[in-house]
Amino acid sequence: MDDLQSLAGVPAEIFRLPLEEQTIQKRNPSRTEDEAPGAALKPLVFRVDESTPEVVQSVLLERGWDKFDEQCQDVEDWNLYWRSSSFRMAEYVNIKPWQRLNHHPGTTNLTRKDCLAKHLAHMRRLYGESLYEFTPLTFIMPNDYTKFVAKYFKEKQDLGAKPSYWICKPAELSRGRGIVIFSDIRDLMFKGTYVVQKYICNPLLVGRYKCDLRIYVCVTGFKPLTIYMYQEGLVRFATEKFDLSNLGDYYSHLTNSSINKLGVSYQKIKEVVGQGCKWTLSRFFSYLRNWDVDDLLLRQKINYMVILTVLAMAPSVPATYNCFELFGFDILIDDNLKPWLLEVNYSPALTLDCSTDVSVKRSLVHDVIELVYLNGLRSEEKKYGRASPRSSVVSLAGSSQSEPCAVPDSPSYASLIQFTTGSKSNPPVRHLYPKHTRTSQLREMMSRQERLLTREAAKSKPRHKPRHSPRKMLSPYSSQPQPHKMKGPAGVLPEAGSAPNDHAGNFVLIFPFNKATFGASRNGLNVKRIIQELQKLMNK
Ligand code: ADP
Repeated sequence: MDDLQSLAGVPAEIFRLPLEEQTIQKRNPSRTEDEAPGAALKPLVFRVDESTPEVVQSVLLERGWDKFDEQCQDVEDWNLYWRSSSFRMAEYVNIKPWQRLNHHPGTTNLTRKDCLAKHLAHMRRLYGESLYEFTPLTFIMPNDYTKFVAKYFKEKQDLGAKPSYWICKPAELSRGRGIVIFSDIRDLMFKGTYVVQKYICNPLLVGRYKCDLRIYVCVTGFKPLTIYMYQEGLVRFATEKFDLSNLGDYYSHLTNSSINKLGVSYQKIKEVVGQGCKWTLSRFFSYLRNWDVDDLLLRQKINYMVILTVLAMAPSVPATYNCFELFGFDILIDDNLKPWLLEVNYSPALTLDCSTDVSVKRSLVHDVIELVYLNGLRSEEKKYGRASPRSSVVSLAGSSQSEPCAVPDSPSYASLIQFTTGSKSNPPVRHLYPKHTRTSQLREMMSRQERLLTREAAKSKPRHKPRHSPRKMLSPYSSQPQPHKMKGPAGVLPEAGSAPNDHAGNFVLIFPFNKATFGASRNGLNVKRIIQELQKLMNK
């Protein structure tokens, strides 16, 4: 833990940057450069299309954002474009510094089942089977057909009379469509690209029902790599009891809610599970705690799995700016409490089918917005209150008077791992910020902070500070939008030396997790070094 401690022990002065180096990011397209700081700002503007989930729009309206209107607004006059489908390359290239897109280019490398399998196989070859043994054995069809047949018959021989189980899934489909579970190779059918995977036939059952976890992960940047994990999530149940003698019963073997909400037992009150087919993740973990399961260890394993998975494809994501990606990781726990990665979802479903969905997904969307846009202002408001101009200025500079991080209650890297996993007496799921702050208040505060900054900047003498000083490398992000520098005409690139916020709402930073991984993910991605650090942590 040496690295962690040394980061936590850095004197506060190190984190203070000269005011000249602070850049207030232009957030609002409606404000022109020559307008006086503090002039009234118009609301932030979001853009949607027919694929945008309803809840995204309603949350943004609730937060005081305006909806983009093509007819009467300038084509560049928006701040956030959120849609379920991917963007065209031109949209990434032409992005403006004040805009955000909810997808990165190239992330289907993680979310297409065949691509994920390829990337993970590559990592297994490079870093060893044992590190990447969290996905079931997978074959990509039709290319791996011969290999699969060989494996199938080898296993049949080894198992004797006992059956072996496999699942065949279309590479590009979702929501359980086109899936076949089989134990006899004669039942294997595919046309196009499929993956055939070892079927986990000993899932952890709750009241004899199979379930899997939907874990939300937000990657706010691939260059530098920054990963946040949501501390709340969903547990999705099958609605018929698990039964290996009936592989054709999808209500017993598939946990997709799109399937189970159509089942006859959906409304039935089921043993332990209750009505419906979903729990919150926190309910599930508290259920496990009642059975004396070490849920913290399980959460930690999931953290590692997420980091290792994102690392597998991060180097192949093209450098783009102002994008973020919300992923849905599907994880199945077996009866030995081993988590298995089943797949990673692009645009995870945000439909609100039941009260559990409403409570989890609405907060999730709020917190994504916090994470990508407004968390700074929130935490400023909470920590310093409105009447503390001095504090605001210091914090905008990326530092605080007495501690290295300006975020209230924020853990240093040293405590991050603990924080991420929470504790038994103090579960990690919590809301740190009020949910319904009006954008108008935030704008008002931004204006005040800009005024103060301008005043302070005029007063302060430029201090000697090389642009890439090691001090700056250690400075955590300010809780304001991070300083950006222009990269070409359109994009902005986060400074390599700024440390990300360690949480926003229920999102907790899981990568970088210490000073070494921070260094290894800035100015290029040193995957080997990061893996070494992860291994150290996993071995502890
Ligand atoms: P989709 O994208 O169609 O949802 P998934 O890979 O998520 O495909 O699989 C759908 C469901 O099938 C999962 O939620 C899970 O319940 C079950 N499933 C998928 N793969 C496996 C596996 N290898 N072992 C056991 N169950 C699986």
